[in-house]
Amino acid sequence: MQPYILIVEDEDALATLLEYNFEKEGYEVAIAIDGEEALVMAAERTPDLILMDWMLPKLSGVEACRRLRRRKETQATPIIMLTARADETDKITGLDYGADDYLVKPFSIPELFARTRALLRRAKPSLLEDVIRQGSIEIDNKAFRVKAGEKEVHLGPTEFRLLDHFMRHPGRVFSREQLLDAVWGRDVYVEARTVDVHIGRLRKALKKNVEIDPIRTVRSAGYAFETAAS
Ligand code: CA
Repeated sequence: MQPYILIVEDEDALATLLEYNFEKEGYEVAIAIDGEEALVMAAERTPDLILMDWMLPKLSGVEACRRLRRRKETQATPIIMLTARADETDKITGLDYGADDYLVKPFSIPELFARTRALLRRAKPSLLEDVIRQGSIEIDNKAFRVKAGEKEVHLGPTEFRLLDHFMRHPGRVFSREQLLDAVWGRDVYVEARTVDVHIGRLRKALKKNVEIDPIRTVRSAGYAFETAAS
């Protein structure tokens, strides 16, 4: 599970604290320090959820929110507004600015996680689902199990995470660098070639139970996961 969260917060300490906690929880995190940067970053890559501070330099959180809602890609992206004071809350509750939820600072991290999960579950249930099925392949994140053609497949931890990532984004082409970021993590230095090695192992393991290789090599681009059902 690696939902991508965009944190829009100009207070360094809070942004770092949020990033640390969300990453520890298994989320992928990016930080924007003002409203304009938030719009640029959200356009570059659509987040699964946005945490938006109310008071921001350049463009306020409210205005950034409004503009995000006007774009097709972020029209329905869950947005949680973070506010500094209770009186902002009054404005928030009475305003139609497009956020889905709000929290007043200081808030507790577990509370924020709970709200985040609730919104993600509603917006993108597959991101939080433990069991995903694509074609004849089934992956169970909680039990750490993979079945293909109703038979169990034994995978190493890296192949497991690779397959999980593919199955959550069927049909999408990932470059080796994107797979490294998503599966190995951004802070780990691994050569792009390593991806090919693990893709090879994953293919070999699945081949025993699945007739058609679900991993497609996309020339000079990367890999994609495709089954008849997806
Ligand atoms: Ca602020």
